Amino acid sequence: MESTLVRTWAEIDLDALTHNYKKICEKIGKDVKFLGVVKADAYGHGAVVVAETLEKAGAAYLAVSSIDEAMELRLNGIKMPILILGHTPKEQVERLIKYDITQAVSCEAKALEYSAECEKLGKTLKIHIKVDTGMSRLGYICAGDYFSIGIGGMANACTLPGLDAEGIFTHFAVSDEEGEAAEEYTKKQFELFMRVINGVEEAVGRRFKIRHCANTGATYKYPETYLDMVRPGLLLYGYGEYAKKMGLEPVMSLKTNVSTVKIYPAGTAISYGGIYVTDKQTRMGVIPYGYADGFLRSLSNKCSLYTEEGSAEQRGKICMDMAMIDLTGKEKVDVGSEIEIFGKHNDIDAMAAIAGTIPYELTCAVSKRVPRVYIKNGEVIEKELMLRM
Ligand SMILES: *Cc1c(COP(=O)(O)O)cnc(C)c1O
Repeated sequence: MESTLVRTWAEIDLDALTHNYKKICEKIGKDVKFLGVVKADAYGHGAVVVAETLEKAGAAYLAVSSIDEAMELRLNGIKMPILILGHTPKEQVERLIKYDITQAVSCEAKALEYSAECEKLGKTLKIHIKVDTGMSRLGYICAGDYFSIGIGGMANACTLPGLDAEGIFTHFAVSDEEGEAAEEYTKKQFELFMRVINGVEEAVGRRFKIRHCANTGATYKYPETYLDMVRPGLLLYGYGEYAKKMGLEPVMSLKTNVSTVKIYPAGTAISYGGIYVTDKQTRMGVIPYGYADGFLRSLSNKCSLYTEEGSAEQRGKICMDMAMIDLTGKEKVDVGSEIEIFGKHNDIDAMAAIAGTIPYELTCAVSKRVPRVYIKNGEVIEKELMLRM
């Protein structure tokens, strides 16, 4: 473990996470529950420790994408409710029930399958109905001509034996986009969602306990969509413009250090393909951070990293395990000096924009050979090496 720490590591600031959680709670008010989205290993931050932190802070629910992710949390002692957003094979229903995991149900066929399994087992599975109001991914279709057949299917899922429909939810497609068209689209999705809820509740003669739809964009921009629970991911981790506007803090600081420094004369081609050629005598640093660690190769020769003497341009093609940065005139930055790839100084949003992507992809790309170092009250409380040893 220690030996890998001098390579590249991700500091996960749990105080920032708790701060963000509390700020979002202030915004949504005490009558709205908070679901923390911790799919994809909590967007690369480490799902178990993030879940522990949210559980302690008092969050109501967690969401993951698969039963494997849910089991990781359960087997590591997480007791709070967990919702699986994706599909689970019917053969796993027994395990869902045994470990008290809530399953999203997104169509008639799955509702029937799950119900049949529950009947066989003589047990009940907790479900949340997923409504497709315009994301066009998972969920019961209910727009236009599909409205009544959709309502019928969802009402059926609520009354089938063995299924306990605790909640109903939908997902917004453009709630984080600017402009009138996006606003209109989101409002239309929400309006349809409300009509669906009313329709299903009327048909089955009871109310859903938890109705939810607000992701990051809606949590920031559309308070009218909060209903019983919000479901932000990116906002919780402190990235994106809404996080900035709310005074949230980035949770991950990805760091590396300089492993070699060399001085090249003018006219030296750097790295594969020689796309960068020095225009003067150049003091070049090599960092042990490459695309196999999560440094998108599309950022080659386009981004800069943060050093104690300001930002240093990345030069030449990014390699699998290494990349070069220009340390000319930064004499204090030497072998062993710490470099921030993104975090509190080097904005991940700017780096994502340069790569033509979103901050989600940069934190999710941090690979398993990058250890996560968890910090609380300014001290390292845990180091998680993701490699098997
Ligand atoms: C990933 C996801 C979220 C969280 O999205 P953010 O944009 O990170 O807030 C919410 N709901 C569902 C269904 C998701 O898949």
